[in-house]
Amino acid sequence: MAPRKVFDLTTFHDLGLSKTIVATLSALGFEKATPIQEKAIPLVLEGSDLIGLAQTGTGKTAAFGLPMIEKLLADARRPDPRNIRALILAPTRELVNQIADNLRDFVKKTPLRVVTVVGGASINKQSEMLSRGTDILVATPGRLLDLVARKSVTLTQARYLVLDEADQMLDLGFIHDLRKISKMVPKNRQTLLFSATMPKLIGELAGEYLVNPKKVEVTPPGKAADKVEQYVHHVPGKDQKAQILRKTLTDNPDGLSLVFSRTKHGAEKLMKHLDHIGFKAASIHGNKSQGQRERALKAFRDGEIRVLVATDVAARGIDILGVTHVYNYDLPEVPDAYVHRIGRTARNGRDGIAIAFCTPDEAHLLRDIEKLMGIQITVASGEAPAVITAGPGGKSRKGRGNGGGRAGQRPARKPFGDGAQAAEGAAPSGAKRPQHGRPAQKQGERQNRNHGGGNGQGRPQRQGKPRRPEGQRREQA
Ligand code: AMP
Repeated sequence: MAPRKVFDLTTFHDLGLSKTIVATLSALGFEKATPIQEKAIPLVLEGSDLIGLAQTGTGKTAAFGLPMIEKLLADARRPDPRNIRALILAPTRELVNQIADNLRDFVKKTPLRVVTVVGGASINKQSEMLSRGTDILVATPGRLLDLVARKSVTLTQARYLVLDEADQMLDLGFIHDLRKISKMVPKNRQTLLFSATMPKLIGELAGEYLVNPKKVEVTPPGKAADKVEQYVHHVPGKDQKAQILRKTLTDNPDGLSLVFSRTKHGAEKLMKHLDHIGFKAASIHGNKSQGQRERALKAFRDGEIRVLVATDVAARGIDILGVTHVYNYDLPEVPDAYVHRIGRTARNGRDGIAIAFCTPDEAHLLRDIEKLMGIQITVASGEAPAVITAGPGGKSRKGRGNGGGRAGQRPARKPFGDGAQAAEGAAPSGAKRPQHGRPAQKQGERQNRNHGGGNGQGRPQRQGKPRRPEGQRREQA
């Protein structure tokens, strides 16, 4: 792995990690700690319970993983058969696998064993893996409880409990499972809770299961990575979403795009449509098997496919460094999900672009997102409806025009055309054709900065002519 030096902070040695671990990290290209690591590692080493407010992409796996590994190594006992020493719970299979991959890198030169258990894979095999005893178990809650019920594993020797992406676990309805599991892990344990947001229920959960926790925070709740440029296209209906998506994908053939759909059905339909019109696309959602998801992710990571259509649940925790564009094809019902979605780009110091599509009946969702983030998202095309009455609770909400920046917030930029124009490629003659759904002026600035071929930051460069998708028929979402 090529060395990555993206964070200019404290070294791991300064944070109290042992020589062996520091050497392993150095071999992985981890020389300096990220902010969450800098704050969390000393606290975990000293034995505190911890609440970490941080998103995926901030280096939080190492923030809890490294000090935990250090402590497991210091206490050299081996786990008894069917017992575990540390438990990490995460909401999705993808995130479990990603955490385990990271931890396996860290424990390479140690005797520690990392085992994963997730739904959708053979329970018998997992049971067999657990029979030898496990140092670190990474699991989704449901499958873990199944294995406990089968007596394949017991949690009574666990001394560390990590709840990762706790807000998402609650969103997915794991609260009862979490409560059950927390009771199975002995009280004299260290508990670490990581969450991208801090809804009230997380506070309650922390109050119940953590003892005098220290709180560390790297991204204020609701604030997405500042590096993500965000745009919204106001469109009259679904057809225009498909048209604009097609155009921006065409304009940006070297990008790696993650497209969010609200439903599994919608994701599959959109993927088939994109495939039909000539884009290399795949989809991941709840109806896909574990194998299918993993193959799609690998193809996306390797750049074999350039567009991945996903639902929120399936995309949770995806860590693909080169994602250049995140499309909110449908706006999410929960504003927090928008923050998670756009956090899939601009990772590890790179730039990223988030493009949302908003139909009139989604306008209230956009308002909620902007309220949560405290910003007004730049309008790339179309116009926000003047008055929206479809808000939850039947409240009438006032829309805004494109020039209506609120005091103290980023003013909306002038749109560069309406949705239909952008979709049909009918940019005004002489006008600079916007790429990536970005206003032309900004694009010009960027191109100047990026002259000289490679941009070194993962920003897509337009190479040659945009690829012409096959077929010219009017597409349906
Ligand atoms: P995470 O937030 O744990 O998902 O980490 C995001 C990415 O950052 C992963 O690919 C890690 O391998 C990488 N990473 C974590 N910590 C560091 C570090 N200190 N230096 C360089 N890369 C890191």
